[in-house]
Amino acid sequence: MSKIIAIFNQAGGVAKSTLTLNLGYSLSQLQQKVLLVDIDPQASLTTFLGLEPSELDQTLYHSILHDAPLPIHSIHGLDLVPANIDLSGAELELVTADLRDLRLKDALEPVEGKYDYILLDCPPSLGILSYISLVAATHVLVPIQTHYKALRGTELLLKTVSRVKKKPNKSLALAGFIPTLYDSRTSQDTLSLQAIKEQLSPLAPVFDPIPRSIAFADAVQAHLPLALYQPKHPTISLLNNIAQALLLR
Ligand code: ADP
Repeated sequence: MSKIIAIFNQAGGVAKSTLTLNLGYSLSQLQQKVLLVDIDPQASLTTFLGLEPSELDQTLYHSILHDAPLPIHSIHGLDLVPANIDLSGAELELVTADLRDLRLKDALEPVEGKYDYILLDCPPSLGILSYISLVAATHVLVPIQTHYKALRGTELLLKTVSRVKKKPNKSLALAGFIPTLYDSRTSQDTLSLQAIKEQLSPLAPVFDPIPRSIAFADAVQAHLPLALYQPKHPTISLLNNIAQALLLR
């Protein structure tokens, strides 16, 4: 059985897509077979891996709404199911679809045996696409930006996870929190990191923060995981530690 990890936070710009790509790559370097699934209509992950969303005929949309086989693209040793703007229509179409909660879970089922890890890059919302991701997932990993608003949305996020755990997906587990875009030179970020650790570590592991670094943006421009763009970058060992911790769970 694959471990299916939803990278989930209803806030945008907290590095969900960046982490999906880079943790996926770290897991693949640990000899794990990894599938990345872009569930965000903005399709950042798809773009990060060098595909042009508007040129794709088949995306996740066709698999969750029209039962098409998952369109899988292999890039840098990772497999990707891409998205594009069609997925924003799925939010509406899913409202009236039968068995809508299971649409993503059912779409992933045929490939589950092929992968050790399936990482779901959730959209920045608490809508149906995030909901069906939590229903399909075995674990949730939460990136959380270290700034003064960091904890503001967490209560709602945790409530959503608890609601899914109560009914459709009892075995869903919180795999941890990853503080992101951390700048240790600012007191706002250090205070925020301290608050994240104090409040969230009783619930699940809080991993070491991923520092803000221009190299991430540059790597994305080059359509590469950081480890291929700048193999000696110090943050790679932090990403590898998180991947290793996921492997041990
Ligand atoms: P989300 O998926 O949560 O919306 P993204 O992964 O798209 O967030 O990241 C938002 C922006 O922040 C992107 O431009 C990305 O390149 C940049 N970014 C992500 N992580 C870092 C980092 N550690 N340092 C600097 N920029 C980063």
